[in-house]
Amino acid sequence: MATGGISIPKMGATDFAYRVARQFGLQIIEPRPALVPLTFDPETVAAMKKLAGVSVECIASCHNTSFRENLLFTHRGLSGPAILQISSYWQKGEVITLNLLPDIASDASALLRWLQQQKQDRPKASLKNILTDIFAERLADYFASPYTGNLADLPNTHLQKIAHNLSEWTLTPTGTEGFKKAEVTKGGVCTNALSSKTLEVKDQKGLYFIGECVDVTGWLGGYNFQWAWASAAAAGQAL
Ligand SMILES: Cc1cc2nc3c(=O)[nH]c(=O)nc-3n(C[C@H](O)[C@H](O)[C@H](O)COP(=O)(O)OP(=O)(O)OC[C@H]3O[C@@H](n4cnc5c(N)ncnc54)[C@H](O)[C@@H]3O)c2cc1C
Repeated sequence: MATGGISIPKMGATDFAYRVARQFGLQIIEPRPALVPLTFDPETVAAMKKLAGVSVECIASCHNTSFRENLLFTHRGLSGPAILQISSYWQKGEVITLNLLPDIASDASALLRWLQQQKQDRPKASLKNILTDIFAERLADYFASPYTGNLADLPNTHLQKIAHNLSEWTLTPTGTEGFKKAEVTKGGVCTNALSSKTLEVKDQKGLYFIGECVDVTGWLGGYNFQWAWASAAAAGQAL
C-alpha cells in the first residue's frame, strides 16, 4: 500500500490505504492535517488583514518545540515555514507563541532591557521609527500604532507591554486550513503493526504499508519524501 495520506484531495489523495488497513484489523492513528496554515477568529483575521503578504523571521513555539523560520501573514491567518512547522505540534485549544525579534531578544524581559536602552539612546525617536529599522513598515505600524509620541514619554508599563507583544506574542488559532491545504497528513497506519525493517504487516505476510499512509510525519525540508523513498526501498528490498 503506497497510496499516501489524505492531504490535498484535489490532487488525487484518498483514504484507500486506511480502508485496507482497517479491513486487516490494523489500528489507524487519527489522521490530521499537518504542515498547514493556521486560522484565527474573525477579529484577529480582520486586524491582520492589513499585513497580508508581509513576511518576517520569527521563532514560533508550541509546548517545548520551537522553529526559527519565516512567518507569512495571509488574508486567512498565518502561514509560512514557521507556522507550517509548528502546526504539526499544535492541537485545538492550545496557544502558539511568536518571538518576532529573535536577533534582539530571547524573551520579553530581554526585549524590555533593549527597549529601555533605545529609550536612553534615542529619546526623540518614536516606537514606529525604531521598528521601521527592523520590520516592514506595515508590521511596524501594526505594533506601534497604539504608542505614538517619543520613546522618552513612554512609561515602563507600556514598554513592558510592547516587549511582551513583540517577543512573546501569544495567539490562539481557531483551527487550520485543513486537508485542502496541508502538505502532509499526520497519523495513519500505526507503526506498531509493521516490521520496522521491512514495513510488512507483522501478522499478514505479503502486505506492506509504506510512505505517507503510515503514521510517520516529518518536518519541512524533504523529510517526508525521504521517508516515502526510504520505506519504499526497505519494502522493495524485502520483496
Ligand atoms: C503541496 C505539497 C508540497 C510538498 N512538499 C514537500 C517537500 O518539499 N518535501 C517533502 O519531503 N515532502 C513534501 N510533501 C509531502 C510529500 O509529497 C509526501 O509525503 C510524499 O509524496 C508521500 O509519498 P507517498 O508515495 O507515500 O504518497 P503520494 O506521493 O501521495 O502518492 C500516493 C499516490 O497514490 C494515488 N492514490 C490514492 N488513492 C488511490 C486509489 N484509491 N487508487 C489508485 N491510486 C490512488 C494518489 O493519487 C498518488 O498518486 C509535499 C506535499 C504537498 C501536497
